[in-house]
Amino acid sequence: MSQQYPRYVSTRGGGGVVSFEEALLQGLAPDGGLYVPDRVPAIDKAFLRANSNFAEMAARVLPFWLGGEVPEERLAAIAEDAFNFDVPVVPLEGGEWTGVYVLELFHGPTLSFKDFGARTMARLMSHFLRGRNERLTILVATSGDTGSAVADGFAGQEAIDVVLLYPGGQVSPVQERQLIAERPGVQAFAVQGTFDDCQRMVKEAFLDPELAGVRLSSANSINIGRLIPQSLYYQWAAAGFDEVVFTVPSGNLGDLTGGVLAWLAGLPVGRFIAAHNLNDFFPRFLAGDGDDYRDSVRTLSNAMDVGVPSNFERLRALLSEDEMRRRIRGYRVTDPETLATMRKVYNETGYVADPHTAVGLEAARRYRAETRDDLPVIVLSTAHPAKFPETVREALGFEPPVSARLAALWDTPTSVLPLAPTVTALKEHLLVAR
Ligand SMILES: *Cc1c(COP(=O)(O)O)cnc(C)c1O
Repeated sequence: MSQQYPRYVSTRGGGGVVSFEEALLQGLAPDGGLYVPDRVPAIDKAFLRANSNFAEMAARVLPFWLGGEVPEERLAAIAEDAFNFDVPVVPLEGGEWTGVYVLELFHGPTLSFKDFGARTMARLMSHFLRGRNERLTILVATSGDTGSAVADGFAGQEAIDVVLLYPGGQVSPVQERQLIAERPGVQAFAVQGTFDDCQRMVKEAFLDPELAGVRLSSANSINIGRLIPQSLYYQWAAAGFDEVVFTVPSGNLGDLTGGVLAWLAGLPVGRFIAAHNLNDFFPRFLAGDGDDYRDSVRTLSNAMDVGVPSNFERLRALLSEDEMRRRIRGYRVTDPETLATMRKVYNETGYVADPHTAVGLEAARRYRAETRDDLPVIVLSTAHPAKFPETVREALGFEPPVSARLAALWDTPTSVLPLAPTVTALKEHLLVAR
């Protein structure tokens, strides 16, 4: 097989062409842009069919992206280790929902789709760092899902330490448990301040000359290393159909960008539906209602509370505006509509959806009613309902079924230190830890 592997360029055109390894370890391009592939491999559908599990499919597809830099056996081992959980496609039956499928991406260790990106990225980074004989500290400010996926995904990876900052007392009890579970190579800090303090401390640490000797990285959703694994589950879910519509509960648009990469690589996708909550920058843009950014507002689907979606810049680099508007439709779903959808879907099909997935389900319902498109619609389910017991109770009148993974967390040892909300306090730790 002779093949041209993709290389990576900045969305802003500066900085030249780099390898995947460089793009992964740098995160942001030197000109402040995001890395995108300079070409997208053509991935034949034959590769997607007839795989007995997700890891096996991933092991066959990842070499199209990374085969030039990571040996195939190594990629297969990484896929097997990273994707050690099920990725089911669940058909809904009843009411307006027949023909709608739920792609459950929440069976990983932290019960959200962010496990896919974080686990793969961690293993790829560790692979490259060992080759260079270097160490790296991942510094993350988190208010929830990303932090636990990163902490868990990077835990125990050779050559990588993780430092996690979250606003003490300001995350839900379940979220806090997920953040402070004791993990090898991970230190969680309950910052005596707000999420904005945590973010400011991280930003200041990156710029601090005294920390020049500590190699820091951020592992956030702007890293290309998270996007490629997020294209795999689109290929997995669509393998059994001729053509499908995907509905993606969206915030920063990283998940959707993964789908667009899969489509550009040849996956037959009729349409993408970008399902947003009240933070509706992207639906407004797609509808031609302007592209002004607004401050984010709090909603029940809080992992999607993003005012300025960072991956918009990437979508723009990958697709022309015409193509974007032809291929993607945007919807905005309010909190009352989210609760009503959770109820409606449960009453009509028996399926318990979390609030993020419900935003996707409502967008899918509206799309089908408006367009009469009869392609199968696959709704990405981005989080397990057990992560949102209060909202499920409010919508359905009962607590969601417990998840064994979450239940086990309450018996796991924890490790967390308090931290003053200053970069000086953070630096003390980062320098001592060396
Ligand atoms: C992060 C997240 C999203 C949004 O994904 P983006 O890639 O930011 O668009 C949706 N649902 C859940 C549960 C998430 O954690």
